[in-house]
Amino acid sequence: MPELPEVGALAHHLREYAVGRRITRIDVASPTVLKTVDPPPSALQGAKVTGASRYGKFLALHCSGPEAGSRPEAAGELHLVTHLARAGWLRWSDSLSTVPPKPGRGPIALRVHLGGPGFDLTEAGTQKRLAVYVVTDPAQVPGIARLGPDALALSRDELAEILQGRTERLKTALTDQALIAGVGNAYSDEVLHAARLSPYATAGRLPDDALDRLHAALQRVLTDAVDRSVGQDAARLKGEKRAGLAVHARTGLPCPVCGDTVREVSFADRSMQYCPTCQTGGTPLADRRMSRLLR
Ligand SMILES: [Zn+2]
Repeated sequence: MPELPEVGALAHHLREYAVGRRITRIDVASPTVLKTVDPPPSALQGAKVTGASRYGKFLALHCSGPEAGSRPEAAGELHLVTHLARAGWLRWSDSLSTVPPKPGRGPIALRVHLGGPGFDLTEAGTQKRLAVYVVTDPAQVPGIARLGPDALALSRDELAEILQGRTERLKTALTDQALIAGVGNAYSDEVLHAARLSPYATAGRLPDDALDRLHAALQRVLTDAVDRSVGQDAARLKGEKRAGLAVHARTGLPCPVCGDTVREVSFADRSMQYCPTCQTGGTPLADRRMSRLLR
């Protein structure tokens, strides 16, 4: 699932290549991805792209509405917002095919033409969870309205305040978008490893030095990952490609810090990885059900 670094790199790409262009056409190949009906996607046709942003793990393309005339009510700001979910991606093309993608066939859910170049929103696999919203204010997207402060904008004291009194596991708190926006399953594994903290630690009971390490790890791991993702020109790739991970998705491989074997705790539909020597005093964690961990 694309998280803060990947979505940040996609927003970066759109700011460089899409801003200043007009949306010439939108092809909706998979109508079920659209979570809003008014304004319709066609309201974006003729709109000028003015910016792109990341909100947590949401990506937004900002536009000024088409000039008054055909649809004066649609003038003003419009935003095309997407949540890429598990297997979604934004793929940029300098010369986008003018042939509309075939509905219900292949991974393309939405194609946005920008007068020659443009991009596809794609989703691999069968679990269709990609979501697209057309709104006049990004805060109209419920998932954005619920977001806590952004992980990269948090000061050490703000982080302490957010975690204070929380009884859930640290892994759960870090991935709760209402508490901290942008961190998901992969980068929470990486941040916890860099901070030498157990995913099962109680979020509200971290000593001061642990909070210091957690804050430093959040900033460093996420900033490095954004740089890498921007550097590999993420929007021209077919999907997310992560490099430089220490523990996530590395079960059975040696920890790059201490050489111990990276372990895994798996749940119904996902898993997390950690290094016992670096994070849990050498003790492997008991494998618990997701429901216990995410209580
Ligand atoms: Zn280690």
